[in-house]
Amino acid sequence: MSTHRIAALLAMCLLLSSGCVGAVTQEDVVAGAARLYRARIDGLAQAGMLDRDASFLARVARIAQRLSEQARRDNPAAPVWSWEIHTSGDPDDNAFCMAGGKLLVSQAYVEQLALTDAELAMVLSHEMQHAILLHHLKEFDEAVRRDPRWLARPFSELEDALDNDARLMGQLAALNREQEVEADREGLAMAWRAGWRANELAAYFRKLEQAATMSHIGNATHPAPLARWRAARRQAAQLDSGRAGTLEKADFPQ
Ligand SMILES: [Zn+2]
Repeated sequence: MSTHRIAALLAMCLLLSSGCVGAVTQEDVVAGAARLYRARIDGLAQAGMLDRDASFLARVARIAQRLSEQARRDNPAAPVWSWEIHTSGDPDDNAFCMAGGKLLVSQAYVEQLALTDAELAMVLSHEMQHAILLHHLKEFDEAVRRDPRWLARPFSELEDALDNDARLMGQLAALNREQEVEADREGLAMAWRAGWRANELAAYFRKLEQAATMSHIGNATHPAPLARWRAARRQAAQLDSGRAGTLEKADFPQ
């Protein structure tokens, strides 16, 4: 065995024995997301595409507020989320939520799909679930579990790789799909608990399905729009008829 290889193994053993595996913390992830979010928001502001339409921003903020109050009621013991929401005039955006609750919604996306308030609530509730369910932290943990050497490198490199390294993204695709299914399901349930009718929330997925050119085909990270619509329709029928809790895992896209 070469000295090189021995040194590499020693480094790996040190990492493992120091308990570093899985040592990405929610604080790391939230701090990184806050930095990236700020850069994105500043970029949009400089391009004149941030929060251009005050009434649209107010509409999004009102719906997000109602959802965040529900999130609080759902889990009063959880740390207080510092939700932040902005709207984008960039037609290439749709909607996202970064770790810690940093949301961005594209006005063009909402207008293209002519989303009702309930449908917009579905979009926001799905995005908020990614933060509530710590999906970003779980993604980082999975990357580190697959390759503990990430812990020896600057955190920003792993952040960048999660968005740009095709090999790593491929390795995490199955987890991403699971997280999308979970965000659809928990997002619909939370918005329903906040007072919207489940079938009106599920209608968002019908619009998504109708807008897709090949709705039966998903992509690397998202289930097919048709499967999402069918799952949402089944879940909504059960929620609106008071049969929540009878859904099986098989009722959701895999
Ligand atoms: Zn999502």
